Amino acid sequence: MEKYSTFVFEGMSIKILSRYDEDIGKYIDEIPDFEEEPTFTPSGKPLVSAVQDRCPFAETEGMPDCGSCKFYRTNSPGDLIGVCINENNLKQRKKESI
Ligand code: SF4
Repeated sequence: MEKYSTFVFEGMSIKILSRYDEDIGKYIDEIPDFEEEPTFTPSGKPLVSAVQDRCPFAETEGMPDCGSCKFYRTNSPGDLIGVCINENNLKQRKKESI
């Protein structure tokens, strides 16, 4: 059985497919690969997932992912999808998109 989780950032909705995992008895969100398909909020902040590999500008105290970074922001604690608010990362991404 499938359902969807919806995340809203700056008024922009992201709909994520959730599948029921019989083994653990819970719905699990299928997290998009934002490195493969970059997605930005209306103000230009990149969407990132908690499990995404950290970038060179991360401040994660040794942890390897965005979810551990001080620049990771979510709508609710524990969300697996959020935005990056690191200005250095935003500048780099703008340079890459020119
Ligand atoms: S700076 Fe942004 S992209 Fe880089 S690790 Fe932190 S949250 Fe992820």
